[in-house]
Amino acid sequence: MFENLTERLNQAFSRLKGRGKLSEADIDRALREVRLALLEADVNYRVVKDFVARVKERALGQEVMESLTPAQQVIKIVHEELIRTLGDKASPLDLSGPTPLAIVLVGLQGSGKTTTAAKLARFLKRRGRNPYLVAADIYRPAAIEQLKTLGQSLGLPVFEPQPGQSPPEIARLAMVQAKATGRDIAIIDTAGRLHIDEALMEELKAIKEATSPKEILLVADAMTGQDAVNMAKAFDEAVGITGVILTKMEGDARGGAALSIRAVTGKPIKFLGTGEKLEALEIFAPDRIANRILG
Ligand code: GDP
Repeated sequence: MFENLTERLNQAFSRLKGRGKLSEADIDRALREVRLALLEADVNYRVVKDFVARVKERALGQEVMESLTPAQQVIKIVHEELIRTLGDKASPLDLSGPTPLAIVLVGLQGSGKTTTAAKLARFLKRRGRNPYLVAADIYRPAAIEQLKTLGQSLGLPVFEPQPGQSPPEIARLAMVQAKATGRDIAIIDTAGRLHIDEALMEELKAIKEATSPKEILLVADAMTGQDAVNMAKAFDEAVGITGVILTKMEGDARGGAALSIRAVTGKPIKFLGTGEKLEALEIFAPDRIANRILG
C-alpha cells in the first residue's frame, strides 16, 4: 500500500535532511518534488495544488526557516496536511436510531461489493450486532449464491429473494424479515453494472426509498485511481452516498483514490479492503494512513 508514493516522498525529503537552515529555494525544490510525487500517485490535480499551497505557506513560516532541524519540521507539516486531506478523523458507521436499520452497498460490478458485504457483517458481528445479509442482485444469480456461501461461513443468515421479486421489493421484504427474526442491521448488496447507467441509479433510488438506510456506501476498487473518485462523485450526485469503502488497497502502490476522494467529494472513506479474506477490512483512520504514507 502506497509504496511508490512513500518512496518518492522520501526522496523529496532526503535532500533536506542533514542540512542546517533552509532557504526558500530549498523548500521550493522539495515541494516541487512532493507535487510530482502526488501527481504520479494519481492524486487529483486540484487536491495536489491545494495541498502543496498549504504546506508551502506553513513551511515558509518561522517555525521551519529558523529551525535547526528544518527537514523534520517540513515532514511534520506534510504529515499534518496529509491527515487533513484524508479527512482528519475516522468516520465510524452511523448505527443510531431504531433497528433494524439498513446499510446499502452500491458500486460497479467487480468492485468487491459482495465480498465487502460479508466483511462488514463479520465486523459488526464481532461487535455484538446481529447482521442480516441481503442479496438484492437479481441479475447475477451467482452473486446470490456467493453471498449465501459467505453467510454460511460466518454463521449468519442471508435473505433469499424469490423469483420475480424486484430489488426494491427484496429490500423491503428483507427489512420486514429482519425485524421478525431479531436482526438489527440489514446489509444490502445491490446489483453492479459494468458502467453507470440510468436504470441502475433508478433501482438504487427505489431501494433507498424502501429501506431509508442509515448508510449508503460506495464500494470502489482503489486500483482504478481517479475512476474511483469519479464513481464516488457520480453515485453521490445520483443517489447520495454517506461514505466510501475502497477495496484492493493492498495492491495499490500509488494511493491516488485514497488521497482524493474526501477532498473531491466531501464524503469520508470509512473502510479499506485489504485482501480477499473476510478479515481483510480496516477502519480508515487518517492519522494511521498518513503514517503509512510517510513510511
Ligand atoms: P462485486 O461484483 O462488486 O460483488 O465483487 P466481488 O465481491 O465478487 O469481488 C470481485 C473480486 O474482487 C473477487 O475476486 C474478490 O475476492 C475480490 N476482492 C474484493 N475485495 C478485495 C480486496 O480488498 N482485495 C483483493 N485483493 N481482492 C478483493
